[in-house]
Amino acid sequence: MQKISLAIHGGAGTILKEDMTPELERAYLQGLEDALAAGYVILEAGGSSTSAVKAVVVSLEDNVLFNAGRGSVFTKEGVQEMDAAIMAGKDLTAGAVAGVRNVRNPVELAMEVMCNSNHVFLSGKGANDFALKQGIKLEPDEFFFSQFRFDQWKQMQGSDDYSLDHTQQQTEELIKDKKFGTVGAVACDCNGNIAAATSTGGMTNKKYGRIGDSPLIGAGTYANNKTCAISCTGHGEPFIRSVAAYDVSCLMEYKGMTLIEAMNEVVNIKLPKMDGEGGMIGVDAAGNVALLFNSTGMYRGARSSDGTNFTRIYKDQI
Ligand code: ASP
Repeated sequence: MQKISLAIHGGAGTILKEDMTPELERAYLQGLEDALAAGYVILEAGGSSTSAVKAVVVSLEDNVLFNAGRGSVFTKEGVQEMDAAIMAGKDLTAGAVAGVRNVRNPVELAMEVMCNSNHVFLSGKGANDFALKQGIKLEPDEFFFSQFRFDQWKQMQGSDDYSLDHTQQQTEELIKDKKFGTVGAVACDCNGNIAAATSTGGMTNKKYGRIGDSPLIGAGTYANNKTCAISCTGHGEPFIRSVAAYDVSCLMEYKGMTLIEAMNEVVNIKLPKMDGEGGMIGVDAAGNVALLFNSTGMYRGARSSDGTNFTRIYKDQI
């Protein structure tokens, strides 16, 4: 019988128990639980993997704790510019948006690009115009505001540095205190179709229209029923240069590796050689899931019809 499975992440990085309050930890775990529930109910009812990953990401985008949608980080100009992508492994259709503003759920816009345009990837003002035309929900700047992210940005605003999500300072502190709050989901539905979605606000104080790996098909997001569906989180530049998500697929397709072997090769061998800190979640068409990261933590969770059901944060919790 076809196994249905869902895996999710809310970002990877230097996430240590000693830096967390019990309340914040509970809030993160609850956010992951809610997102898992939102996606799994769709899979259980016989819905598609694309609908499930979209529902998970919408839930995490609406949660101010995560760096996607509401609660996204601030750019150098003090605004939020968001990126998202979604891909269906059944027919390799995909949609992505980059640098969009005021779109409540960038993953919905990415889905709209996938389903109702002749394109795959829209950016900036054009993507916003498309959102308006398609009736995608927009919100004023205040909706996306969070004091926590604003304070982070204020610390960096005068500098040319940029930083990864919750990071307080750049340079040496950045190395010690990296957290990435991008969100993502992968799913396998009752028909054995798999899908992936990723959404992010990118990096604090980013400028020049910087785009990370998240919306790039093959880098931060990829799905192919023949191999795997992958959503990444981490320092985007090395993930782009190593075409991380597609590399997992290639290792499975051309080298015959299993999902976990291929993900291990990319996350724990190839990316560290490029200073590529972060992680990824994956699923194959048999419903096997894997959640791997080379940082100290990754907000994550999984649920499957084989009884798998967990939400975790730290490394020591395997
Ligand atoms: N990968 C994202 C980026 O580089 C950041 C993250 O995962 O938090 O934009």
